[in-house]
Amino acid sequence: MLWNGVIDKYRDFFPVTDSTPVITLKEGNTPLFKADNLVKVINPALEIYLKFEGANPTGSFKDRGMTLAVSKAIETGAKAIICASTGNTSASASAYAAKAGIQAFVLIPEGKISLGKLAQAMIHGARVIQVEGNFDEALSIVKKISEKYPMVLVNSINPFRIEGQKSASFEVSDHLGEAPEYHSLPVGNAGNITAYWRGYKEYYDAGRIKNLPRMLGFQAAGAAPIVLGHPVDRPETIATAIRIGNPASWKGALQARDESGGRIEAVTDEEIIEAYRMIASLEGIFCEPASAASVAGVIKLNREGYFKEGDRVVCTLTGNGLKDPDTAIRVSNVPIKVKADIEEVEKILGYEIYSAHR
Ligand SMILES: *Cc1c(COP(=O)(O)O)cnc(C)c1O
Repeated sequence: MLWNGVIDKYRDFFPVTDSTPVITLKEGNTPLFKADNLVKVINPALEIYLKFEGANPTGSFKDRGMTLAVSKAIETGAKAIICASTGNTSASASAYAAKAGIQAFVLIPEGKISLGKLAQAMIHGARVIQVEGNFDEALSIVKKISEKYPMVLVNSINPFRIEGQKSASFEVSDHLGEAPEYHSLPVGNAGNITAYWRGYKEYYDAGRIKNLPRMLGFQAAGAAPIVLGHPVDRPETIATAIRIGNPASWKGALQARDESGGRIEAVTDEEIIEAYRMIASLEGIFCEPASAASVAGVIKLNREGYFKEGDRVVCTLTGNGLKDPDTAIRVSNVPIKVKADIEEVEKILGYEIYSAHR
């Protein structure tokens, strides 16, 4: 069977009818990798799986919700959509708007957006407005604008975004044949952890799985409002996709944690970068820094003796590392420069081989 996107695949679980136009870039069906090299280093008694959402058409999980949000917007006759974004929502909104033949307007916070994501919004023809402020300020502006003008808001407070994002837990369940013991996610605006938990519960209620996972959510230490119990005015982290001080789905995250018996905790930027490098160098998967918070959190809980032997832990890698090459280069070794001469190159190789075998 050809893959035609998440609405086609999981139609029964979504608020669509036969007359809903389906705007899809064939999102979803992303790979679930068993991270055998990573567990050797972390804890060989665990089974860790990586759900690589960077394989979606615009390079992040945002596409799962955007296909539904834009399809429903078109169903109601919308000619424009609007969002505030740390990058991936705008990249996805812009691409789906292009596919639907409508205009996207995106507000991005000053400075902190990765160049790859900005490039996506621009090339897909969105009107990009940079605001001198942070994400939370940009979001409050677009909320008011969408109430005033005929534009559909496609941030995750649009209920169809979270609906579409449920599809990832369906896929994990289908792939494993049941739900894992734990599911770990980075938490920014907290829409995704809300969506996954709802997805697992609906699959359980439909009899497709016989157990529910415990949900683990990880915020960056400099942007950890849920962990602290109050909004953070000036969120700071290298993981720009989760640099959010007042999550829109705060309640949904708490519900996911409490109903599932899970945890929401903070990981430092150092822990995030360590996990980011490990995922790339041990598993061959290049994810975004924010994505690596899911693995960083599992490493942290594992050190505290949280897991038991045989537990299956799925970590969602939310976005593609290619969006933010600057960070990868900043945390890696600088290439050595030599003359275009074989002996010069051999000298370096000899040294590298020697040090690799030491
Ligand atoms: C949007 C995003 C997140 C955060 O997801 P929330 O639903 O806002 O919690 C994490 N990682 C990446 C790559 C994202 O694009």
